[in-house]
Amino acid sequence: MKLTIDYHTHTVFSDGKNRAAEIAAAAKEHGLEGIAISEHGYSHLAFGIRRKKTERWLSELKKAQEEVGIRVLAGIESNIRGISGLCDLRESDYENFDVYLAGIHVATRYERLRDYKFGVSSMLRTKLGIGPSSTLVRDTTKAYIHAVERNPLDVVTHLNYLCFSDPVEVAKCCRDYGTYLEISSKKQHLSDEELAAVVATGVRFVVNSDAHTPDRVGDTRLAEEQIARVGVPLERIDNIDGRHPVFRFAEFKRHM
Ligand SMILES: [Zn+2]
Ligand SMILES: [Zn+2]
Repeated sequence: MKLTIDYHTHTVFSDGKNRAAEIAAAAKEHGLEGIAISEHGYSHLAFGIRRKKTERWLSELKKAQEEVGIRVLAGIESNIRGISGLCDLRESDYENFDVYLAGIHVATRYERLRDYKFGVSSMLRTKLGIGPSSTLVRDTTKAYIHAVERNPLDVVTHLNYLCFSDPVEVAKCCRDYGTYLEISSKKQHLSDEELAAVVATGVRFVVNSDAHTPDRVGDTRLAEEQIARVGVPLERIDNIDGRHPVFRFAEFKRHM
């Protein structure tokens, strides 16, 4: 399996360890057609990219593209900020980005007090092996679904990593809205049984590295192992073997 474009990498502007040029050079060396630098979104409390640094970041991406000679896309890994589906980007931010990813993260500035249960308490429940309450599953599912409905998301990242939705319901919504589900090669986020059930919905996938260092750019190993175990049809993964996904965000912006 070879990625066409790896849509999920980080640099020092969020919690990555390197600069865009180093990530781009690794992508080129790996034979990828391009790379998206998708920093953590503005409302990530620990390592979100700062809004006022966006312009400097964009010029660094542009320079990396010119110097390295590979396509460097401006992505964002937005935070889903609550049950309402609020994400980090305002419509006035859209012009700055090419690719719109979103996921649930522990250290997020959530919209309301009650939304903080998607952060630390879900993480602790995961780490301590305490299952979720049915209310927590219902509300996390709603948060994902409302985010997909309310924002032109290209990709939902690492579904259910340190949190608890009904992945089949989220996948059905992604299928209907044309949002891709990520299969991460950084960390397993769905069990094999869950992934099999998600595949049965007909949703489409992208595989991403979530690389925070150049050596992991384009890495697919962990995802490939699970894809093989579960028997995910490779034709349902749209950023491999020279294929390109059809993304919502670009289409949305064309009609803005
Ligand atoms: Zn993430
Ligand atoms: Zn990430």
